Amino acid sequence: MSWQSFIQAELKQRQQNAIWRKRTCVEHNTGRELQVDGHQYLNFSGNDYLGLSHHPKVIEAWQQGAAQYGTGSGGSGHVTGFSRAHYQLENALSEWLGYPRALLFISGFAANQAVITALMTQDDRILADKLSHASILEAAMLSRATLRRFTHNNPLSLEKLLAPPAKGKTLVITEGVFSMDGDCAPLTELQRLATQHNAWLMVDDAHGIGVRGREGRGSCDVDGIKPELLIVTFGKAFGLSGAAVLCDEATADYFIQAARHLIYSTSMPPAQAIALSAALQQIRNADGERERLNQHIAYFRKNSQLSGMQLANSSMAIQPLIVGDNDDSIQLSNYLRQKGLWVQAIRPPTVPPGSARLRITLSAAHRQQDIDQLLEALHGFAIK
Ligand SMILES: *Cc1c(COP(=O)(O)O)cnc(C)c1O
Repeated sequence: MSWQSFIQAELKQRQQNAIWRKRTCVEHNTGRELQVDGHQYLNFSGNDYLGLSHHPKVIEAWQQGAAQYGTGSGGSGHVTGFSRAHYQLENALSEWLGYPRALLFISGFAANQAVITALMTQDDRILADKLSHASILEAAMLSRATLRRFTHNNPLSLEKLLAPPAKGKTLVITEGVFSMDGDCAPLTELQRLATQHNAWLMVDDAHGIGVRGREGRGSCDVDGIKPELLIVTFGKAFGLSGAAVLCDEATADYFIQAARHLIYSTSMPPAQAIALSAALQQIRNADGERERLNQHIAYFRKNSQLSGMQLANSSMAIQPLIVGDNDDSIQLSNYLRQKGLWVQAIRPPTVPPGSARLRITLSAAHRQQDIDQLLEALHGFAIK
């Protein structure tokens, strides 16, 4: 097969199944609103749950950091790319979350790959929730360990997979808050099962960190557990980007030896680490924003019920409206766009076949009238 026919066939197949992906060039994005092609939309597709992405103190910290350290880190953390700014952020994160160590990565995708591929070898097994994020499942496949997926949020299903003794080590992986469904993992139960079977638990809390728990410490704080590996990411509630793994001393030292994403990749700019430290301070003091977000969630759910809409069972900022059919989800998304509302349709393979949805996300940056506008438009489409 020639290169051209390969690419044409792949493109055609995606067009036919309505899973064509395209990017949108955003001209301006405040978390609450975004501008595309000169048009203004209310943004219900972001992950800026606390509205921190435009916080003046965080912006100022980044500017001052750039003035002090320059633009980039200048190399991998193993050469000259590990600065005092990185060191201080790692310390602040480990103190906040109550772990001996934190290690920074440039993204959650990189952190998941690095951690899973560094720890897992051929004789090991990975037991991951069926709806785990692509970065987790792909890392598991890369690692050469055996990957088994347990039924979503189902400890009994995990228990069955744990029962036969493993040749090597076992790693159980879940998310704190699931990115496409907004539901929370039964962490206490999963931790208990993992411990009982000498397995380690890894929790990716990309959507829980900053939003849940005391001072925003996330899903594990809410459930009172401490997984051996906690992944937090900074692209969501932190309003920036990057990630960290929280773990014990020896495991952190091992990652520094073995995690290829730390060794062979330029570390995040020091100025970004300074901005992240400023964002962390804001997050610890963001009880007001967390409360506003929770009010928005309660308000949206209550009033969507009144209009007879079927929302997924989520009490988090992610409020998916499951449509089912791919084309229908696009149609609804386009309808909302005409009404000045930006709500992205999410289709397979990002979500299971037949469960295309609008992934509605709420933010403390929204106002109640924004949510009213969304509810009205959704209602208008339902009776059309
Ligand atoms: C967004 C996300 C990631 C990836 O994090 P990035 O920093 O965006 O690379 C990983 N896991 C989950 C659950 C996520 O939602």
